Amino acid sequence: MDCLFCRIASKKAAAKIIHEDDECIAFEDIAPQAPVHFLVVPKKHIATTLELKDGDEALIGHLYRVAGRIAQEKDIAVRGFRMVMNTNPEAGQSVYHIHLHVLGGRRMHWPPG
Ligand code: 5GP
Ligand code: ZN
Repeated sequence: MDCLFCRIASKKAAAKIIHEDDECIAFEDIAPQAPVHFLVVPKKHIATTLELKDGDEALIGHLYRVAGRIAQEKDIAVRGFRMVMNTNPEAGQSVYHIHLHVLGGRRMHWPPG
């Protein structure tokens, strides 16, 4: 299996890594859609949110906690920021290894495009 985010997590592909622990890695998005745009990615390969299994709940919670901590460090937390996981083509998912987008530093629109 050739998965871009598995390769980044195992350092076989480069990325601007901003956090790493046993469960996840966070790195800057290569095509930022906001002044701050990073991804929090589990090291475990899970293709989409629909493939989550019993026992993955804590992992997903961990991704959100790491994302919030980094948002605070990057000083976007008080103003507000958006966290989103796209699922399948119509939502715009392009990498089939789940990842939490964290976007901030500008006003976010609602409804999203
Ligand atoms: P999706 O479209 O699946 O929700 O999000 C995939 C994200 O990964 C996109 O925002 C895209 O810019 C980002 N991305 C794609 N390839 C790379 C890469 O090689 N390195 C990094 N850092 N981000 C990438
Ligand atoms: Zn993967």
